[in-house]
Amino acid sequence: MSDTSVVKLNMHDEAVRQLTVCNSCRYCEGYCNAFQALTRYRSFDEPTVSHLANLCHNCRGCFYACQYTEPHEFALNIPALLANVRANNWEQHIRPSVVSRLMQATLWPYVLITIVFAVLFTFVLNVSWGSSEPFYSSISHNTLVLIFLPLFILPWIALINGLRSYWGSIGGQRLVMADITHAFGSAASMKQLSGGQGQGCNYESGEQYTSIRRWAHQATMYGFLMCFASTSLATVYHYVFGWVAPYEFFSFPKLLGVFGGLFLSAGTASLFYLKIKADNELGSVQRRAGEYAFVVLLFLVSTSGLILYWAGGTAFASGSLVIHLAFIATFFVSLPFSKMVHGFFRLAALCREAQIKRLA
Ligand code: SF4
Ligand code: SF4
Repeated sequence: MSDTSVVKLNMHDEAVRQLTVCNSCRYCEGYCNAFQALTRYRSFDEPTVSHLANLCHNCRGCFYACQYTEPHEFALNIPALLANVRANNWEQHIRPSVVSRLMQATLWPYVLITIVFAVLFTFVLNVSWGSSEPFYSSISHNTLVLIFLPLFILPWIALINGLRSYWGSIGGQRLVMADITHAFGSAASMKQLSGGQGQGCNYESGEQYTSIRRWAHQATMYGFLMCFASTSLATVYHYVFGWVAPYEFFSFPKLLGVFGGLFLSAGTASLFYLKIKADNELGSVQRRAGEYAFVVLLFLVSTSGLILYWAGGTAFASGSLVIHLAFIATFFVSLPFSKMVHGFFRLAALCREAQIKRLA
């Protein structure tokens, strides 16, 4: 059964059908925490299916191990089913849903937003700001804050509201520190991406296991966090200590930014390569374009930042700055509507799983 036909059926009925077969079989019980959680249930209402879907990380091990995939009449495809349920969750809870649906499924909003910001920053950089600080002679610090502050705050509001809505929909209760610590510990090590016995994923190599996807995710996540820490630290330097950019190479903001950028570029390039190699039918086919757009955008954010660093003081500096700022602005705008949300929903699912086990 193709991914498209799964969606044409009532998705919840299809999920109940497939998960009921798995619950009788239980061959994949040791593969991941989605299957371990599944064994707690005798029936599958919508909150339960959503919770299981957000615990799944699409390793595809259960597909390649399964004796009930096509051409068997059961036609199970658990990775695609759960990928579609997950994406539906994001689109349902992150408002406005129409924007969420567009940015999960298509490429062109990313292109259009980048062009709009590139034009805006080209205009802004052509204004003489008269700053005495070399770094801000092309664009004033206050202008940067004026543009980026709403771009930073508004998407976070949409994301937090979406997570609250999702948390309520799966019956989440007040968390205790142990739940949060457990969830963050699991996310930090990406333990689930190592497979049930540490053998890795089947994502890109069919029945063969590899750990490349886990390493690529770790490089992407830690690279992103280092870049975020670099920007946050530079803000503290500016406002608290009055130390104005640019900073020396051997300074914390610069080291975090450069090495974070390298990790992020390497991680996203690897994820892009794995996506090309992987079987599309085992993911959400309808969201493929949006997934590629998100990975490419993250790659361009980090790579344009590195190019800007090396272009400093050359004739390419101004153009590099326009392109880098446009990619960053597009990333901020798309944050709650793109594949980026999968990390936050997964963290919420891990918190809920820890909570369910604690309360059992
Ligand atoms: S995916 Fe297939 S093998 Fe795995 S538990 Fe479900 S029915 Fe069994
Ligand atoms: S695809 Fe992997 S993570 Fe998802 S349910 Fe199957 S075995 Fe678990």
